[in-house]
Amino acid sequence: MARIAVSGGGIAGMAAALAGAKAGHDVVLFSGETNGGAAAPLPGGLQIAPNGWAALTQLGLSDAAASCSTQLNSILVRSLGRGTTLIHLPLAGGYASFSRQAMYRLLRDALEAETNIDQIAINIEHINQQTDGLTLVSSDGQSVFCDGLIAAEGGSGPGRRHVTSSSPPDSSGRRVAMRAQINLEHLPSHFARPASNLWLGSGRHVVHYPLETTLNVVVTMPGEEISSGWQQRLLGRDAVLSPLADPQISWAKTSLPGAATVACWRRGRVVLAGDAAHSMPPHLAQGAGQGLVDAACLGRWLDQSDDSSSLNPAFSGYARERAAAVGRIVQKADVSGRVMGLSGPAARLRDVVLNIGGPRLMQSWLAEVWAADATLDTAPHRQA
Ligand SMILES: Cc1cc2nc3c(=O)[nH]c(=O)nc-3n(C[C@H](O)[C@H](O)[C@H](O)COP(=O)(O)OP(=O)(O)OC[C@H]3O[C@@H](n4cnc5c(N)ncnc54)[C@H](O)[C@@H]3O)c2cc1C
Repeated sequence: MARIAVSGGGIAGMAAALAGAKAGHDVVLFSGETNGGAAAPLPGGLQIAPNGWAALTQLGLSDAAASCSTQLNSILVRSLGRGTTLIHLPLAGGYASFSRQAMYRLLRDALEAETNIDQIAINIEHINQQTDGLTLVSSDGQSVFCDGLIAAEGGSGPGRRHVTSSSPPDSSGRRVAMRAQINLEHLPSHFARPASNLWLGSGRHVVHYPLETTLNVVVTMPGEEISSGWQQRLLGRDAVLSPLADPQISWAKTSLPGAATVACWRRGRVVLAGDAAHSMPPHLAQGAGQGLVDAACLGRWLDQSDDSSSLNPAFSGYARERAAAVGRIVQKADVSGRVMGLSGPAARLRDVVLNIGGPRLMQSWLAEVWAADATLDTAPHRQA
């Protein structure tokens, strides 16, 4: 049995801590400082696709996840402006929306049920590798000795800096997401249909889906277009979307991260997970799902390792497998964003192509993403 530290109390860090504990190791989770809500989830929602569900299943969370999420039965791609449906893709299951709060609660409850996890709501600041282990120094000056570290601190933490010299992901890009959660009671009933809706416009797009009793809406657009009355200009003219232009609705602005994977996922006793290893714009709704897949993959490698006192084989197998799989997904998220952001005649051509290609085209684009780790479905789940 090894002593594993995990840094980062986001989705990837909590899921990785759970995977380590379920594989029988002692885990200490540095969940980050709570001052200013740093470790608290953003409001709003997440869509989790079949690969994320397979990871939740492997982590032993599928039943609990089903009870705190909303299953979505189709993806509808529509033209923003003309209102026509370009693609209707029915979903066979394993696709759902979660509030971020619900996902955090799901993982926190699972961590609390494990006896071999210590949680410390503090940041780590320094990582010193020795031949026989790692010493982590936390922001309050404590030193913790462990056999390995899973660094899941998002884009710019010390774990990522320790492992790779690549610069942190760029989120200063031109495009921003305006996010709102609106009580479904205040909206026409069609907004409650259990579908993920993508409206493609010229240089901007809108995503909405039901999230428990609310509608989660994300409008992606160039940052320079956010000025007073943008809701009316963008949403108010569309017969279906116009209720979302209500000036009473409050919107939160989030800069979108660029697409980036690290060249190297592991340095000695430290491996990366989640956004620390792969940052991507949210156009395929895969960032958090990939963090869950990282954790499930790591859990599988830890389970399979013959020598439970050495993390070396598991860390190297995990890093190799995930580095090979994630690059393509990050690239597809980036390309999807470019296609969604087309404007003028190129946007009209895009809509024609999507309409002709229909569900088959979309399915073939998504199949590789959703089945990126085929082993997840079939891997035996080890109970704690
Ligand atoms: C608008 C938008 C919509 C999205 N929609 C989806 C979606 O539908 N589906 C999906 O799968 N993904 C989606 N994503 C992506 C998803 O939100 C992220 O990929 C995911 O939350 C990243 O989780 P993480 O745990 O890797 O990192 P983070 O959430 O960044 O967590 C990192 C944690 O580390 C802590 N930390 C930082 N420094 C330290 C330190 N030194 N020591 C200890 N802890 C530290 C932080 O406090 C934080 O708690 C979306 C993103 C955006 C912006």
